Amino acid sequence: MTNTANPRVLIWNEYLHEIENEEVAGLYPKGIHGTLAEAFAERGGFEVQTATLREANHGVTPERLAETDVMLWWGHKAHAEVANQTAIMVQEAVLSGMGLVVLHSGHMSKPFKRLMGTHGTLRWREADEKERLWNLRPDHPILEGVPEYVELAQEEMYGERFDIPEPDELLMLSWFQGGEVFRSVCTWRRGLGRVVYVRPGHETYPTYHDPMIRRIVVQAAAWATARVRQDASRCPNTQSFEPVPNPTKEHIL
Ligand code: ZN
Repeated sequence: MTNTANPRVLIWNEYLHEIENEEVAGLYPKGIHGTLAEAFAERGGFEVQTATLREANHGVTPERLAETDVMLWWGHKAHAEVANQTAIMVQEAVLSGMGLVVLHSGHMSKPFKRLMGTHGTLRWREADEKERLWNLRPDHPILEGVPEYVELAQEEMYGERFDIPEPDELLMLSWFQGGEVFRSVCTWRRGLGRVVYVRPGHETYPTYHDPMIRRIVVQAAAWATARVRQDASRCPNTQSFEPVPNPTKEHIL
């Protein structure tokens, strides 16, 4: 893609809580993916598609990923239902330059765990408590227009230790009413791709209706959008540009 084309966004959602639970359906009648798609439409300048777990191939094919600049991933209760092949496909796409924004309980999703190489475990509690997310990097594009801190009146608590590799950038740190802290917005580079984790977004709270959380998610996606897409899996044996002592040396396997 060129820098002038609209980023192509694929929002992937498990889409089970919204179907099975009335409270969640009330908050997200079109699914979490539908609400997030509205956030992108509101901002403008994106081409947005959605995919869900129970679609054929979970709505994820190599062709579709090849036409995706950044993917968002929300999953929770059915991580195990996601085919390993799908997780590998997403991982490969990221290594070749696709962006990935992993949301909330996606911390234990197969694609995230594969890309991080860790378990993604953490401590958690559902107690309707306040979350305060501190902005550690007001200079970062993901946090453009985000104040010193963002408060959510009620959220699920996620606490340290969060089993992730050291983030390349730690952008927000959460404090919870019950006393825990958590690395809430983190970035990593994997191959040619960018990965962002954004913590808030428990399904029984209206978090994805919060204007500031919507701003952070949309800006995370924009930042993670790949500007380079190429097959990074090639590992060619190559001729030298300048004379070398033994150019025809046999490679013994
Ligand atoms: Zn949750």
